[in-house]
Amino acid sequence: MSPGRGRRAAGLVGPAPPLPAGRYPEGFLFRSKTGAPPMKSLTELRDALRAFAAERDWDQFHSPKNLAIALSVEASELLEHFQWLTEEQSRALSADKTKEVAEEMADVLIYLVRLGDKMGIDLLREAKEKIDMNAKKYPAEAVRGSSRKYTEWLPK
Ligand SMILES: [Mg+2]
Repeated sequence: MSPGRGRRAAGLVGPAPPLPAGRYPEGFLFRSKTGAPPMKSLTELRDALRAFAAERDWDQFHSPKNLAIALSVEASELLEHFQWLTEEQSRALSADKTKEVAEEMADVLIYLVRLGDKMGIDLLREAKEKIDMNAKKYPAEAVRGSSRKYTEWLPK
């Protein structure tokens, strides 16, 4: 199945999530450094990444293997920001550190969207299916407040 065919691009950007009051300047995380208007969908991001790679003749390097590796590297860079922090410290990053984390999250998203594009995978459809699958595995009434894996509580 071709990704996105016949479907309206699903919006990724909604209202900005609330941030702890007083810790960040208004719009801190969502202000564009370049002044470019914000993207409104994964399709728009996919197309921007296609153009970015084409302009640099980098498409030749974007095999699924290379993109999966790059994605994992960026996920590790994200993780590095939290290494050795306590739970509480991880919830109270400085504004500068939060921005650095946001940039690593962007790297992860970029490589994920690029990988999905190169493999013909509709990420939003797959994510929706996964949520639906997880809702069956973890019925809210059975698991509310528990972090146990479904194999631990499902009847054998
Ligand atoms: Mg990075």
